[in-house]
Amino acid sequence: MERTQVGIVGAGPAGLLLAHLLYTEGIDAVVLEARSREYVENRVRAGVCEHTTVGLLRDLGLADRLDREGLPHGGFSLRFDRADHRIDLAGLTGKSITVYGQQEIVKDLIAARLATGRGIEFEAADVALHDLETETPRITWTDAGGTARELRCDVIAGCDGFHGVSRPSIPAGVLTAYDHTYPFAWLGVLARTAPSSEELIYARHERGFALHSMRSPELARLYLQVDPTERLDNWSDARIWDELATRFSVDGDFTLREGALVEKSITPMRSFVVEPMRYGRLFLAGDSAHIVPPTGAKGMNLAVADVRRLGPALVALLRKNDSRPLDCYSEQCLRRVWRAEHFSYFMTTMLHRAPNADPFTDRLQHSQLRYTVSSAAAATSLAENYVGLPFD
Ligand SMILES: Cc1cc2nc3c(=O)[nH]c(=O)nc-3n(C[C@H](O)[C@H](O)[C@H](O)COP(=O)(O)OP(=O)(O)OC[C@H]3O[C@@H](n4cnc5c(N)ncnc54)[C@H](O)[C@@H]3O)c2cc1C
Repeated sequence: MERTQVGIVGAGPAGLLLAHLLYTEGIDAVVLEARSREYVENRVRAGVCEHTTVGLLRDLGLADRLDREGLPHGGFSLRFDRADHRIDLAGLTGKSITVYGQQEIVKDLIAARLATGRGIEFEAADVALHDLETETPRITWTDAGGTARELRCDVIAGCDGFHGVSRPSIPAGVLTAYDHTYPFAWLGVLARTAPSSEELIYARHERGFALHSMRSPELARLYLQVDPTERLDNWSDARIWDELATRFSVDGDFTLREGALVEKSITPMRSFVVEPMRYGRLFLAGDSAHIVPPTGAKGMNLAVADVRRLGPALVALLRKNDSRPLDCYSEQCLRRVWRAEHFSYFMTTMLHRAPNADPFTDRLQHSQLRYTVSSAAAATSLAENYVGLPFD
């Protein structure tokens, strides 16, 4: 049987960053990942990094490429009723966000991990967690070569996302789940073209929400609100561009730049939290414990925020035998999680059009949008949540 201090399940942003934090403190960890390196390095997902996320990556010496290639943004536009209203993030909060693809962060973190000489067990199959209520939990899996493996740990970090094995390994009745589904999904595309605007545009249109974002000066990232039952086959490239042009229409100068679509996906929208984020010696971090609809750009940032607490708490346990920070881990994380849940819900319900929305809801949405762009207090509240609230 192999032995490590922390067994980390999942090589997404949460698992990889935790491995690095622990390495810098001399704590040994093994990272198991179900997919291949190529797959995780090319999985297109989030792209907005809060200033707190950027700060942490810089502090850890992991932001060289992010600082070179990331796009700092001091504001974004709320577009409704054919007009743009800029939310001046930098002016209202003194902080900004950085647009840098999640897959780029994953690439940087994998490179940093491999540079330490500690690897990642990619293509780990049949991962199973055992003895979680003891001080020596175990992980079993079948490695890429087909060999059955077993790892004894002091602690397991469940960083394996919403569909991972960690959360379902916790016995029934331990966790309380809070779940909310929305009557829409996002059709996301990556287009090989220069972005049509320097800043993000969150557009609320009678036909539904649309988001204009980017990943680099040559790659635009665009989203359309669609029905959750929608199928990609129904969306030809031409239909996607037509619908985007309609929803981004505005009085004034704006041309939607088109380009080859290199990625298309449909992501359902959901809010989900489990409490507590712990069972015995298993600690959940990131999407394994909570997910948000992407409208507030919080998912990846919350995963980073969890790990920012989990890393030092594990160090306290494993170096000083002090379990107090770990005992507070779930409660402290959940405060930030619920704030982000509320913000994501607020952005989602303000900007999307529910199918068969009644005129009352419609009027409320317009009232909220007009208030947000005309009141400094309301705009500041939105901006401070968007750039990332400070840590306690
Ligand atoms: C399809 C999708 C699209 C998204 N799009 C956006 C977006 O456009 N904007 C935005 O702000 N946010 C988006 N998000 C949210 C954001 O990407 C996540 O919040 C973020 O990835 C969370 O990081 P994580 O490390 O917790 O989990 P993940 O990034 O999901 O990483 C978990 C890792 O665990 C691995 N894993 C799963 N099961 C096992 C197992 N049994 N054994 C070993 N490894 C396992 C997975 O392969 C994965 O690599 C999206 C999320 C998804 C799922």
